[in-house]
Amino acid sequence: MTESLRRTAIVTGAARGIGAETARRLAEDGFAVAVLDLDEAATKPTVDTIVSAGGRALGVGADVSDADQVQAAVRRITDELGAPTVLVNNAGITRDNLLFKMPDSDWDAVIAVHLRGAFLMTKAVQKHMVDVNWGRVVNLSSTSALGNRGQANYAAAKAGMQGLTKTLAIELGKFGVTVNCVAPGFVQTEMTMATAERIGQDWDDFVAARVAQIPVGRGGLPGDIAHAVSFFVSEGAGFVSGQVLYVAGGPKA
Ligand code: NAP
Repeated sequence: MTESLRRTAIVTGAARGIGAETARRLAEDGFAVAVLDLDEAATKPTVDTIVSAGGRALGVGADVSDADQVQAAVRRITDELGAPTVLVNNAGITRDNLLFKMPDSDWDAVIAVHLRGAFLMTKAVQKHMVDVNWGRVVNLSSTSALGNRGQANYAAAKAGMQGLTKTLAIELGKFGVTVNCVAPGFVQTEMTMATAERIGQDWDDFVAARVAQIPVGRGGLPGDIAHAVSFFVSEGAGFVSGQVLYVAGGPKA
């Protein structure tokens, strides 16, 4: 991609894990990348990695579930990096518990970050895509959307991401915008490390138990997910929209 055609991408939750690797990959693909996360200071390692490899990146602090912060972030990205035409809704949290023990606030928090966050971010960015008749939205779902014990809030949010994806694909298609979902299985990140810690399981044992269920015989890495996002964002994927791609080392988690 030449400098004059360089497009701007936003990756939310990109300070670490899947988001950080996706931001790095999109920079390698030629995009200027807004590395958005709750704490701007925490985005510095991702930004530095991109810049030291010759890419362009901007660290932005914002809570994706807060409408005012989302508006301000998208304005700043547009001014400092360029109008965004690629959006990866990756920011996420878990607050796992069995239904009868789940505090209402943990239901609300998970729905707010994943679903309200993706809604607010996409609403704020879509204008820039429609303006140039080109855009790519990729939403992070999960194999948990198919049901997972202790994750009523997270599974509902991740299934909701799929409904949001399919509906936005229908609404935005005529403006040259594709909307797709990547649904990872087990990926080794701080999110899954926190799960192992919460249930009191040694990390290596936790990984081994999951890998035993995965047909390709290994756990997922952030780069596996970034590769799938890169495909959906690519120019050649313009006829692929409203799809959910499970990236899980097999047909199920
Ligand atoms: P992670 O390591 O926990 O990273 C998530 C990032 O999102 C963190 O930097 C976090 O910031 C940020 N974030 C949280 N709430 C936010 C908010 N309100 N506004 C902006 N940023 C926020 O998670 P991950 O494992 O890379 O997961 C990334 C995505 O993939 C998530 O949507 C997750 O649900 C999905 N996924 C992951 C797996 C897996 O096995 N890891 C499987 C399926 C799906 P803080 O550090 O400040 O909280």
